[in-house]
Amino acid sequence: MHALSFQLRQASVVAKAMKSQHHPIVAHIVPIRRCNLACTYCNEYDHSSKPVPLEAMLRRIDRLVELGTTVITISGGEPLLHPELDAIIRHIRTQGSIATLITNGYLLSPGRIERLNSAGLDHLQISIDNIQPDTVSMKSLKVLDKRLQWLAEHATFQVNINSVIGTSERPEDAATVARRARSLGFMTTVGIVHDGEGQLRALGSAEQRVYKEITQEAGRSFSSFAYYNQFQKNLLQGKPNKWNCRAGSRYLYVCEDGLVHYCSQQRGTPAIPLEKYTVWDLEREYLTEKSCAPWCTISCVHQVSMVDQFRENPHAALARLFPAALNDERSYAPPAIIRALIWMFLPPEESSTRKKITQGFARAAYWCLKVR
Ligand code: SF4
Ligand code: SF4
Repeated sequence: MHALSFQLRQASVVAKAMKSQHHPIVAHIVPIRRCNLACTYCNEYDHSSKPVPLEAMLRRIDRLVELGTTVITISGGEPLLHPELDAIIRHIRTQGSIATLITNGYLLSPGRIERLNSAGLDHLQISIDNIQPDTVSMKSLKVLDKRLQWLAEHATFQVNINSVIGTSERPEDAATVARRARSLGFMTTVGIVHDGEGQLRALGSAEQRVYKEITQEAGRSFSSFAYYNQFQKNLLQGKPNKWNCRAGSRYLYVCEDGLVHYCSQQRGTPAIPLEKYTVWDLEREYLTEKSCAPWCTISCVHQVSMVDQFRENPHAALARLFPAALNDERSYAPPAIIRALIWMFLPPEESSTRKKITQGFARAAYWCLKVR
């Protein structure tokens, strides 16, 4: 039941984002900068910060909702260290936004997962870097596998396992992690490691091979890869992406001090207090060109920007995002929403008059919705 309601609310997020560019789609908020781990590639944690007081977190959520934010993602540091995390999640849900959580998973237990269920969490993501802990990262399948089993048994929210390429000396670990996650019924994504400014770190041929292996094994599920892999494919081949980063507008990063930044890797810009952030700031940043965009690896901002690509030119966006699918002789079964978009906006190869007429009605309905 929760899964169905989540899917309907996700559809409404997309519909709202397609209808208007004047609100943030996703905001990341940091309730605590402290982390219980110390991954050597990470610049997003310390070992001493106190939790942000609950009242301040609730005010920030209210302000994000006032700005029209539809998805609020809690990250850190390690958010499970915040003693009032459940109240934060509950508030996001009662304010009508989708509540998602990014955690290293170490503090999960069956009881903690049940509390996240009760709070109304919609989606949880864990990134796993390797199979065995090493000097770079302790986010290892060996340590986390029991937590993954608990999630499979108890979670009523959606779980995504992000296997990261570029953090381990054994790139093939990422494929093992993705396989294990799929065997437990979770969504999977692939992350590419970035430097301290969100930019691509050069990856070798072994990493490129593993990426290809994972994406091929995953098939062509919308929830896994197809939706944004064009960005990653280009980066892995050493090619920059040409896109408009909408950070500061469609995507906000709100740090523990309540300042709005472009993203976790561009902290310091524009660094305006959230309570003073207005629609004018959203409008300005929508149009601001970010010089870091060509080599950016921040996939959540890639995904958000694609909604605007759809909104501005759905036909071109679909053709760009699914070039392989559209020209591939192998069978391709994208999810219903993408099938609907393809049916509405891409030219039919052989089409009956009746289909052309219905398609025309569907397009007209879309454009009416868009201009309202
Ligand atoms: S677990 Fe996450 S926040 Fe903590 S050090 Fe590792 S990457 Fe950073
Ligand atoms: S392009 Fe956007 S998301 Fe990527 S690093 Fe720059 S500001 Fe952040």
